[in-house]
Amino acid sequence: MNQKTSSSLFSRARQVIPGGVNSPVRAFKSVGRDPLFITRAEGSRIYDADGNCYIDYVGSWGPMILGHCHPKVVEAIQQAAANGASFGAPTEKEIILAEMVREAYPNMEKVRMVSSGTEATMSAIRLARGYTGRDKILKFDGCYHGHADSLLVKAGSGAATFGVPTSPGVPADFARHTLTATYNDLDEVRNLVNTNKAEIACIILEPIAGNMGCVAPKPGFLEGLRQLCDDEGIVLIIDEVMTGFRVAYGGAQERYGVRGDLCCLGKIIGGGLPVGAFGGKKEIMDHLSPEGGVYQAGTLSGNPLAMSAGITTLQLLKEEGFYDRIEEKSTYLEQGLKAAAEKASFPTCLQRVGGMFCTYFQEGPVWSFTDAAKSDTELFARFFRAMLDEGINLAPSQFEAGFMSIAHSKDDLDATIAAAEKVFARL
Ligand code: PMP
Repeated sequence: MNQKTSSSLFSRARQVIPGGVNSPVRAFKSVGRDPLFITRAEGSRIYDADGNCYIDYVGSWGPMILGHCHPKVVEAIQQAAANGASFGAPTEKEIILAEMVREAYPNMEKVRMVSSGTEATMSAIRLARGYTGRDKILKFDGCYHGHADSLLVKAGSGAATFGVPTSPGVPADFARHTLTATYNDLDEVRNLVNTNKAEIACIILEPIAGNMGCVAPKPGFLEGLRQLCDDEGIVLIIDEVMTGFRVAYGGAQERYGVRGDLCCLGKIIGGGLPVGAFGGKKEIMDHLSPEGGVYQAGTLSGNPLAMSAGITTLQLLKEEGFYDRIEEKSTYLEQGLKAAAEKASFPTCLQRVGGMFCTYFQEGPVWSFTDAAKSDTELFARFFRAMLDEGINLAPSQFEAGFMSIAHSKDDLDATIAAAEKVFARL
């Protein structure tokens, strides 16, 4: 496949944009090739600057559950743009989207719109700290919640109880307020809570961890966290930026029947435009400015284009049987990919929840980041490159989820499975 234009655009981009990209994973560093530069997308397909067409399972990292360029979403954005791109003042659309969110997530009694997932989690954490008057937070190794300082932290080595920064620029003084635990390990969380009695403001987690591939919560894990938070006065923040309106209309909280005190959303609720939201119990949310003292703000928050794209997207997701169809397509792809790997006697482990999935290059199962890290990332990189050459666009990292859209046809899925068979046989 000729990808010369993409490569030359990448060289040009590197002169003016750090690493040539505006978000690191886009640089394809871990898969050892130049990234594709995209010109347009439609339905299940994405097109690069050389005119190549790919079946797309990245879907802008999750938002495009309706497929790219859904005509009704495009129309909603166009109509909104004709009335003005931004006012920095309240609009009815913000209320409509907030009401739709509350209907789907009844524990989000009040909702505030922001412009990205990072802003949603960062603001929810500040609110939890302001509400409880405590400084420490607890997160899980391998969960990603955006790039706020408190979250770019990993566990300190050995007996250290303090977290350490994972990025230069994050003061150690910030990182020491972040505790990290192993995903799916409730005992470890209990121990951390006991040794930091009455000091932890919140526990934040991905209810299905899509930032280490696709790791479901073990039975009892979410329930155990819920109980622990109730017992200890800790705010449970469920980060559904990826899973919200993805694994069910009501997200992972509907799927597993466990509700957070605060919840973060992003991606799908903007229909592809920059958006995020956080919300929760009235009692907590009313601590936000201007009602309460916890400051949080945004010039473009509740942007009318983003609200319009979000409202139309959610209306379409509410159609009867939408999530059943996503499930059917995803099951079909899962079975095909598993059979393709088995045919070539290839040790892979495909994990999936609803329309998000990951093929780990190892036998699995994967329950934590320690498990995920056992994957053969070199082999994954070769698989990724070969699939791309076959016209299949997967996430360019072993530790990212793939996403199904309603626009993926049976032909698309068959073509993907056939490509995987060919590639597995060659690897
Ligand atoms: N939380 C989760 C679970 C995410 O997956 C992401 C981004 N992939 C974020 C937060 C941050 O969102 P954004 O990139 O919009 O800042």
